[in-house]
Amino acid sequence: MSTETIHVVGGGLIGPLTAIILAKKGFDVTLYERRPDMRKGGVPAGRSINLVVTSRGLKALEEVGLRDKALEIAIPMKGRMLHDTEGNTSFVPYGQKEDEVIYAISRGLLNILLLEAADAYDNLDISFNRRCTNYNVEKATLTFLNEETQQEEHIKAAVTIGTDGAWSVIRQAMLENVENFSYAQNFLEHGYKELVIPPAEDGGFRIDKHALHIWPRKSYMLIALPNMDGNFTCTLFSPYEGEDSFEALQTKQDVAAFFQRVFPDAVALMPTLADDFFNNPTGALATIRCNPWRIGGQAIVLGDAAHGIVPFFGQGMNCGFEDCTALNALLEFDNPDWETLFKELEKQRKPNTDAIADMAIENFVEMRDTTADPKFQLKKQIGFELEKRYPDQFIPRYSMVMFHPEIPYAEARRLSEIQDGILDKLSADISSTEQINWDEAERLVCGSNN
Ligand SMILES: Cc1cc2nc3c(=O)[nH]c(=O)nc-3n(C[C@H](O)[C@H](O)[C@H](O)COP(=O)(O)OP(=O)(O)OC[C@H]3O[C@@H](n4cnc5c(N)ncnc54)[C@H](O)[C@@H]3O)c2cc1C
Repeated sequence: MSTETIHVVGGGLIGPLTAIILAKKGFDVTLYERRPDMRKGGVPAGRSINLVVTSRGLKALEEVGLRDKALEIAIPMKGRMLHDTEGNTSFVPYGQKEDEVIYAISRGLLNILLLEAADAYDNLDISFNRRCTNYNVEKATLTFLNEETQQEEHIKAAVTIGTDGAWSVIRQAMLENVENFSYAQNFLEHGYKELVIPPAEDGGFRIDKHALHIWPRKSYMLIALPNMDGNFTCTLFSPYEGEDSFEALQTKQDVAAFFQRVFPDAVALMPTLADDFFNNPTGALATIRCNPWRIGGQAIVLGDAAHGIVPFFGQGMNCGFEDCTALNALLEFDNPDWETLFKELEKQRKPNTDAIADMAIENFVEMRDTTADPKFQLKKQIGFELEKRYPDQFIPRYSMVMFHPEIPYAEARRLSEIQDGILDKLSADISSTEQINWDEAERLVCGSNN
């Protein structure tokens, strides 16, 4: 393998972890980030304020010794707290084992943790304020605009890894220069807006901090994730147009009336709602796919640059971190050349990132339409009962994705399609788990080749 410096473009969540993995293996690495160093200048606005980290992300962090540090700044959430239009709540656990929890973590604090860890390597340089403006594929040269001096810098880069996010410049260069390069970006008709439930007067949390709160309302929904400082980041997912949409909310009165009508218990906890609604941007949600991810052994894109997904399974970062786990494993082999390694990395990851992209869209439908449906809750409970009785044969989809990193996403999707059929059959004529027909369950689960 060449010993030249590896250039990692994009210092968000995936870039620093990629750089750490390479530096840990002894490679010289330079990480470029267009923004200033957030450890000095504060965390920039944009994207989500906090996010969900689960076992796949934690596994990658563990490989570089950062799992425990990440968990110190995370809040465990044991299940969904569903809020109906009357303000009544019901709790649906995510798993049935003590450790089957997901974690809310601040994007900024996690990014800082990763940058700190990257900075500790002597063979890893970080260049902030470097906006990549072009990647010359033919000459293998990166062009950066130094945002402080406004000077252009050209860097010869034999090996480049693009972790520059959903609107990647490296991927754009591939699109323009690689023959038969496929690229698709599919926007949802829904956007999102972040709002806040501030801490109580005594600094505590106003609602249960160990739950991910959801106000499911069919075509739109509100969710809330806890932050370490006592507040909750709420996200409204709503269509851009039509009835009960962003377009329909033009004035502070519209916003107050809409929230009072559909999220009455939430609005009582959101004193700055109307101001936040108009001060905070409305973000777009897109699925991004491309093929291939690489140019021979000279460049590859990872993370959102290769596979942007919608956030409804809380897996975008987690599956980007899983790219890093796969890279780490491939670096164990004796002297693979970069072309072979990139080819294998893409081959292993692409079917799995495609699968989680599809499951993320399917989970949107589940979260907004069906979580409040009694049939959905019954099927969840039946799924747990089946898992208890047949732990080797039946692990519910949500659990496979969130708690079983050893099951690749594509396999989780394949198995869960079989399981859906089983749950449909077993729940068809019953209203509680006591009525499960266990003979039929045994026949379906043990004979289902899953
Ligand atoms: C509302 C929302 C909620 C989400 N919730 C979750 C969740 O709960 N769990 C989860 O796992 N995922 C979640 N995600 C997805 C997650 O945010 C992304 O998958 C993750 O941020 C991808 O990391 P990345 O490093 O690939 O890209 P980014 O985090 O976007 O980082 C890219 C970096 O590259 C830099 N950059 C961009 N262009 C250039 C350039 N030209 N030159 C130099 N630097 C550049 C950027 O400044 C940035 O620092 C959510 C996303 C959204 C929008």
